[in-house]
Amino acid sequence: PYDVLIVGGGPAGSAAAIYAARKGIRTGIVAERFGGQVLDTMSIENFVSVTETEGPKFAVALEQHVKAYDVDITNLQRAEKLTQQDGMTSIQLASGATLKAKAVILATGARWREVNVPGEKEYRNHGVAYCPHCDGPLFKGKRVAVIGGGNSGVEAAIDLAGIVSHVTLIEFAAELRADAVLQKKLHSLPNVTVITQAQTTEIHGDGQKVNGISYKDRVTEAVKHVELEGVFVQIGLVPNTEWLKGTLELSRHGEIIVDAKGQTSLPGVFAAGDVTTVPYKQIVIAVGEGAKAALGAFDHLIRS
Ligand code: FAD
Repeated sequence: PYDVLIVGGGPAGSAAAIYAARKGIRTGIVAERFGGQVLDTMSIENFVSVTETEGPKFAVALEQHVKAYDVDITNLQRAEKLTQQDGMTSIQLASGATLKAKAVILATGARWREVNVPGEKEYRNHGVAYCPHCDGPLFKGKRVAVIGGGNSGVEAAIDLAGIVSHVTLIEFAAELRADAVLQKKLHSLPNVTVITQAQTTEIHGDGQKVNGISYKDRVTEAVKHVELEGVFVQIGLVPNTEWLKGTLELSRHGEIIVDAKGQTSLPGVFAAGDVTTVPYKQIVIAVGEGAKAALGAFDHLIRS
């Protein structure tokens, strides 16, 4: 068995693997897709100390750093079940194999919920974005839309309004669902238009990048078009915890609840990164949380 087994090969899992291996303990990492969300990222400009890099390049660097240590890497394998017995945690893989460890770190990340309209996939990273903290500055002085009027959508619209020339916020329902204080702030901004009862039907582009969005007015059924350069989709971030339901404590959003050391509700099971309740889903944060969970797991090992 491993001393520490990490599930997930994104920034959080990679950091955890490096920190665990550096303790000289038997470390393994299993990932469905080594690199995680950064593989789908164009440019990264906010990983402190790296002025600019590309997602796939960053993913290769993560893997190289992990491979510099004695870590067993099992790539392209999905974990499907977690069980515990006699102080050991077992992770069952889709292949049927089972890996055992004294401590497990869950770092399976999250995925952005998509609107599923024509143009979304085609123009991802070419005008379609999901993270205002990451990509907001790329749209400086341009026109953007934010899809989604919940807290994250309204926060994104307020954030972007300070960077871009104009924000159109598109909400499906009759009213925004964000907190009143956020809505008040939003409505005070001169360069934001809020459209409710609107169903996004298509994101348009010129073959290279986004140049507009269409939505259907759900009252009149009329289809309207807005010219713009960017679309931020803010309709939810889904943690990859479906396989863990019923085994450990999750928040109502499905995030793994962790304490300050990354410990979950199960002894010997830690978690880090976008999959947890820790706010602000960013690479730099996932990396720090991964390191912390590995140190938490090591602490647990020397005490048991
Ligand atoms: P992830 O990166 O999601 O990695 C999860 C890992 O777990 C993957 O290896 C996955 O294959 C694996 N996995 C999932 N389920 C299972 C399973 N059942 N069994 C085995 N393995 C599993 N952040 C920034 O800081 N700056 C940016 O510029 C930036 N741009 C972004 C652009 C886009 C398009 C996206 C989608 C995200 C962006 N982010 C950015 C956010 C950033 O990518 C995430 O915060 C970060 O990757 C989280 O790391 P993580 O390790 O927690 O999870």
